[in-house]
Formats: sequence, C-alpha cells, structure tokens
Amino acid sequence: MRELIEKSKHIVIFTHMAPDGDAMGSALALYHYIAAGAADRCAERTVTVIVPNAFPAFFNWMPGADQVMIYEKQAAQCDPLIAGADLFLCTDFNDPKRIGPMGDKMMANPAPKVLIDHHLNPVDFADEVHSHPEASSSCEIVYKLLTGADSAGLSEEIASCIYTGLMTDTGNFSYNSTNCDLYEIVAALIRAGVKKDEIYNAVFNQYSTDRMRLLGYALYRKMRIYPEHHLALITLTADELDRYHYQPGDCEGLVNMPLQIADVYYSVFMREERAKPGTPKPRIRISFRSQGDRPVNVWANEVFHGGGHMNASGGELFGRIEQAVALFEQTYKKYLKI
Ligand code: 5GP
Ligand code: MN
Repeated sequence: MRELIEKSKHIVIFTHMAPDGDAMGSALALYHYIAAGAADRCAERTVTVIVPNAFPAFFNWMPGADQVMIYEKQAAQCDPLIAGADLFLCTDFNDPKRIGPMGDKMMANPAPKVLIDHHLNPVDFADEVHSHPEASSSCEIVYKLLTGADSAGLSEEIASCIYTGLMTDTGNFSYNSTNCDLYEIVAALIRAGVKKDEIYNAVFNQYSTDRMRLLGYALYRKMRIYPEHHLALITLTADELDRYHYQPGDCEGLVNMPLQIADVYYSVFMREERAKPGTPKPRIRISFRSQGDRPVNVWANEVFHGGGHMNASGGELFGRIEQAVALFEQTYKKYLKI
C-alpha cells in the first residue's frame, strides 16, 4: 500500500454512506498519514476524503473533518477528483454500492483500488484487499497497517482518529472487544497523545435537547416488545423526526437501547426518510442488532435488501413504514431463534 501511495499523485479516500466513527476515523487516519508524508515525498500529491452524504455533527471536532467533501452536496467538485484519481483507498465498506452513486464512478476509473475493511464477504472489486472480519473495526486494521510501515511514530491526530473508530465500533469497548490486541493498541494510542475521555465526551455527550427528547419519545411511545421472541421494534416516521428537528446522527445508538432490557436479545429500528425527487417512495432505513449467537444478517439480507455482521446489520425498504412493519411481522419467526 505504501508503494502505491508513493507513486500516486491524486489519492481519493472513500468511506460508506451515513458515516460512523469508524468510517470517519479510518478515512481521516489514512488522510493524515498521506498528507503528512506528501510534503517531503511529493509536493504535488493531493489527497481527498469523500463521503457519500453528511456525517453527524459530533464528528466535526475530528482533525481533518473540515476538509472532508460530501458528495450529496458537492458532486460537481467531486466528480473531476474521482475521474482524475490515480489511487482509491476504500475504508469500512465492502461493496461499491455502499458509497452510492460514487461507486459506479470509481469503478469507471481503472486506477488501483485498496480495500481496508472488516465487513463479511467483500465484493471482489479492489486490487489490494485488507479484509479482516475478525477485527473490531476498520480503524484497528488501519492502525496495524500504519504502524507496520515506517511511519515516524503515530501523530496525535492519527491516533485520535483511530481511537474514535475503536471506541464507536465497540460501543465504548462493550462488544467486539475481547481481543487483547485491542487494549495494546489503545495503550499505544494514549501514549501517542490521545485524550480518551475528551473523545468520549465529544462523541457521546453532545446531545441537543431535541435529540434527547426524541430518544425519550421513541422509547416511551414507539417501542413494541415481542416477548416470545425476545425482540423489540422501534419505528419513527419522517413527521415524528421533524417534530424533534432531526439531524443526521440523532438516532445513533437508539437501536442498541432495547438490548438493555433483561429479556430482549434482538432489536430492530426503522426510520423513515421522506421521498426525494428521484425516488417517488419514502425510504425506510432499518437497523438490526442482536446479542450472542443470534444472527440478524440473513434476515436483513433476504428480506430487507441489506446485510452486515452477525449482531449488527442494516437494510432498507422503499415504501411506507407500515409495509416495513408488516414484512417484519410476517418474517421474524422464520429468521429469529426463540
Ligand atoms: P447500521 O444499523 O449502523 O446502519 O448498520 C449496522 C451494520 O450493518 C453496519 O456496520 C453495516 O455493516 C451493515 N449494513 C448496514 N446497511 C447495510 C446494507 O444496506 N447492506 C449491507 N450489506 N450491510 C449493511
Ligand atoms: Mn466499521
């Protein structure tokens, strides 16, 4: 990967739609690594992070976040960068479809593509593949790649980006986090200057009042429990979200909350996005979570056009939320263990 970076002049880093902490962290860590080396190795090298759509405001503090381009808002500026790139780094996604319309544009450019990811079953599109589904996060893989190269120590900027992905993809070290390596990495990141508690506060303690009330409303009024299947469902319509002035990221973590109930092992959250000009039907974005040996990815894949990890998957349906709920109620008994 270092050789590819050294011989490239225009590098584009992509990460997935609705970027989370691991997406932002892995992309920005690579960005800083390349940008720091660019000055002495190749003055005219450019490196750009492009995300398909907006990231939550609680990642604005991340070093380099202000340089990230958002395709949904800046397509005209991004298209020439994608067409002119001579190297693509793809972090935290396993399929060109997960970067929306940019996927086809990237594939139309024959420049080499490097995949760095921890999702299962990567689509065969990249020239160099660092796919480690056993890793806690893509940031863990980026850490191993960067420290294995002759990087002159990790800067605090890079370390903070990597720490953010480790923290968010493990729910602040509450799942996917039993491997000892992870804590050795955390120790090295703290030595590199990471202010761990400040990062926690910057990401998890930045609620607006509206966001907190929306979560309260969702849990109090909109959560249904299916006790025989240890299953919870929360739905929020676009009208309900409007009432609380919904911002990207406001529902982050909501799907995990019902798992705090003693007998709930499965949780599903459906969020309606209003129809857009090109899409006549509303999009229902669906998140699935489970605990232990209870896969949700097959259900997400076969019924809701998505997929993901065994305990954390996503999917979608174009239609009304009632249709998504009907499909959910018709199929959960087939896919979920009691
Ligand atoms: P979330 O509920 O946070 O949006 O997604 C949880 C996980 O499910 C993500 O880490 C991602 O791996 C996976 N995922 C979400 N949406 C999709 C999708 O549309 N297709 C696939 N294959 N995986 C998805
Ligand atoms: Mn991830």
